[in-house]
Parts: sequence; structure tokens; C-alpha cells
Amino acid sequence: MDPLLKTNNVSISFGGIKAVQDFNIVLNRGELVGLIGPNGAGKTTAFNLLTGVYQPTTGTIEFDGVDVTGMKPYKITQHGIARTFQNIRLFGNLTVLDNVKIACNYLVNYSLAEAILRVGRYGKEEERIEREAIELLRLFKLDDKKDELASNLPYGLQRHLEIARALAARPKLLLLDEPAAGMNPQETLDLMHLIEEIRKRFELTILLIEHDMSLVMGICERLYVLEFGKILAQGIPQEIKSNADVIRAYLGEE
Ligand code: ATP
Repeated sequence: MDPLLKTNNVSISFGGIKAVQDFNIVLNRGELVGLIGPNGAGKTTAFNLLTGVYQPTTGTIEFDGVDVTGMKPYKITQHGIARTFQNIRLFGNLTVLDNVKIACNYLVNYSLAEAILRVGRYGKEEERIEREAIELLRLFKLDDKKDELASNLPYGLQRHLEIARALAARPKLLLLDEPAAGMNPQETLDLMHLIEEIRKRFELTILLIEHDMSLVMGICERLYVLEFGKILAQGIPQEIKSNADVIRAYLGEE
């Protein structure tokens, strides 16, 4: 096994609430791992910790041999962790193409705020950034919509654009936060194929938060289950499906 990410007793409290407690996970290179659990279990908070949005109260995060604990989000992105959001966070008033170009630019050296200010001013990097962005859009069948405003895309395509934007930062680890939320069964199936395709093509390691059990059980190799901020169980999908604690806490309520 070749770990890409390892967390050591990562915890965070908000006021008196322990949102995530002793979060210990290992992601091996190339794995597709699910993070599941009831509403409010701490899944998104865990993503916010891994991406530097929140600093852990205690614990450390080791990524690709580097201790990234306490780093700013854009530095962590530069080290190779990119994410999507539960509630889509595109730049709605920018074009589809600029949304992806920002992320390519983000990688160059800038924080997100600087990258946004530089939209349309990519300097000598312009040609490369545009070429990379269009290649990505082609993969997501969004190249013919490159000049549309992101906010004008149908909902499902906005979700795809979020993934394309995350990939523009050329991550080693992609964190997907409920990518199938709001999608119909056909869109969910298409998404599942897309995740498998990008995983192979970009040799990604993926951590997936998702409530759609057909998606989670269908594509994840291993799962972690969170409840009240703590890891309740971990294992392959078959084990998780039949784990009595997990059924009581989570699966039983589906
Ligand atoms: P869902 O499946 O509903 O998205 P989740 O598992 O992602 O839930 P989180 O959003 O991580 O859960 O929330 C975990 C707990 O931490 C909740 O009790 C939430 O209210 C709390 N929490 C998260 N962020 C903050 C914050 N910035 N300030 C205070 N409390 C927070």
C-alpha cells in the first residue's frame, strides 16, 4: 500500500460542539474511497479540514509526504488536493471557460482572490492555460458552451463544470462533496461513468461524500462511515452494508 493522505487524530470543535473528532483516515494512491454518514455527521467539515478552510484544533494531515496542517487552501491546492462543493460554487457571472481558466491560473502562484482579479489577464501563460482549459471542457462535453455564463448552464452541467474546474488544478487527490445531489437517476449514472473515466485518465485518488447509496456502493472500493464526528466503521462496501452499527446509525434510515 502506498498512502497519499494520512490524517492523525484530526479534530475540530465549534463552540462546544465536536464537529470532527479523532479523524484518522488513510487514502492509498489510486483509491476511490467513500465518506458517508447521516446529515450533520461532519463529512463536509472533514473536507474543510483537509483543504485548509478550517484549521484542526488538534491533529495533523500528511499529504504526499508533506505535513500540510495549517497551510492556506491555495497552498494545499498547489500541493495537489482539489475539491468540489456540496452547494455549487461556480463564478456564475464568468464564462464556462473562465471558470476553468481561473483554476489553471490558481495553480500558477496566486490565491483564489488574486486569480479572480486576473481573469482575462493571463499574460504569457495565456496560451497554455486556454489550451488546457479547453481540453478539459472537451472531456466534459462542455467545450461548445465555453462562452456561456456559468450560471446559464443547466444544473447537472454546472456540477460537471465544478469537477472540470477542480481538475484544472491538476490534483493528485480529488474531493467530491455530494456530486450527485439533485441529479436524476440517469444523470447519476452518467456521473458515475464520468468519475470512473477521470479517475483513470488523471490517475486520481478520490474521496467521495455521497448520500446516493447506489453510486457509493457501485464505485467505491472502501468506505468510511462518520457519525457524530467520529468514524463509526470502515471497510469494503459489502462489510459496511451488513455492519449492524452502520445500519442502525445510517443505512437503516434510508
Ligand atoms: P450533511 O450530510 O448534512 O452535509 P455533514 O456530514 O457534511 O452533513 P457538516 O456540515 O460537516 O456535516 O456538519 C457537522 C457539524 O458541525 C454540524 O453540527 C454543523 O452544524 C457543525 N458545523 C459545521 N461547520 C460549522 C461552523 N462553521 N460553525 C459552527 N458549527 C459548524
